[in-house]
Amino acid sequence: MSLRIVIDPGHGGESLGGNTDEYIEKYLDAKVADYMKERLSQYDGVEVFLTRSNPDAAELSIKERVKIAADHNADFLFSIHFNMSVDHDLYGSEVWVSAFGDYYRQGKDFADIEMEGLTSLGFFDRGIKTKIGKEGTDYYGIMRYACESNIPAVIIEHCHMDESRDTDILKAGGEEFYKTLGYLDADSVAKFYHLSSSSLGIDYSNYTYEQEPLPASVVMPDLTAPSTCDIELIASDTAVGEATVKVSASDGESILQYYKYSLDGGATYSKLYPWNDENTAKAAAPVGNITITVPLTEDEQSELKVAVCNRFDLATESNTLSLPAKEKKIDRIPEDKLREYDNITYDEDGATTDDISASKDGTYSADDAYTEVTSDMTYEKSSGNTDIILFVLFAAIGLAAILTLGIGIYVRNTKKRRRRRRR
Ligand SMILES: [Zn+2]
Repeated sequence: MSLRIVIDPGHGGESLGGNTDEYIEKYLDAKVADYMKERLSQYDGVEVFLTRSNPDAAELSIKERVKIAADHNADFLFSIHFNMSVDHDLYGSEVWVSAFGDYYRQGKDFADIEMEGLTSLGFFDRGIKTKIGKEGTDYYGIMRYACESNIPAVIIEHCHMDESRDTDILKAGGEEFYKTLGYLDADSVAKFYHLSSSSLGIDYSNYTYEQEPLPASVVMPDLTAPSTCDIELIASDTAVGEATVKVSASDGESILQYYKYSLDGGATYSKLYPWNDENTAKAAAPVGNITITVPLTEDEQSELKVAVCNRFDLATESNTLSLPAKEKKIDRIPEDKLREYDNITYDEDGATTDDISASKDGTYSADDAYTEVTSDMTYEKSSGNTDIILFVLFAAIGLAAILTLGIGIYVRNTKKRRRRRRR
């Protein structure tokens, strides 16, 4: 009897799934699912079915999807998705698995293989996780109903459609990349089931992977944030504008995954950075410390806080550190600009302020050898104006003196002439 695999592309019809300006999830899910089916069908001894094929056809309920899988007598149900986050800050791949017994074990074994493939494409490992609902059963309906029908199921969240770290990978791969993802999903299934393909010339019959032991109890998600997060200033360079800070954190139940920092005491935060600078999370641990570099704010102290997130995106804020201001950038006026200024002469009409501004780009004044060039700097009018006013004033006084003298002489001569005529 052959293996029977059901692939379930997420959403459809009115339900778009996640959507951004660039992506609508239901179409990505459908594309990847089609490629997964195409590839997996080429392996020997496997029959592959889709729960739905047209992403614009009316949506199926979760129960209907599982019913289709059950009707096909599925050995495994794979739910195909792409992700988005509320704050548009999360990135990476994750696989959701059942928290229960053999469903967990099988899901985890497959997910380990799948995650290795996704991280090899450059995606960050956000984890293979369980989620429990209020009733104490699997939170995700597809998994809950599938397990009730004795079908193991996983949800593959390939990557995020709203964070540049992931979308850069999607864009770089172009249309062909959805084939890469679908084929990766199919090959991961083939490895998990030790399949071979005579048409593809692939043989995974001896493929080995570490098998997860049957869990003794429900595999609970981590419901609490990291227990500690402390920061300590190592060094600060006010000229370069950087501070080196040691972050120490610990979590009782899951690994440390991301960190972000705030320069305004926790009011606003940076984007998320990986706790460990690698995709596979193999070096990530529940306890650890990292050294990070943060920018100093120009001309004012900043109040640094770091928040560390565990595998389940629960965050804990650190203590606050006051960081010194970055020194203001002092730009020396280039020599040629200075010379240009020296060459400005005022003719007798008097150069106008506008003439000077235009020639100096309005950025500095005559008297300053050094000037802080900042965006809101305006032309300093006083010195240039004073020169002109003084010049005009002296010219006027001079002119008045000449006129007065001239009129005086003229009047005297006229009187002399009149006196001569009378004689
Ligand atoms: Zn989805």
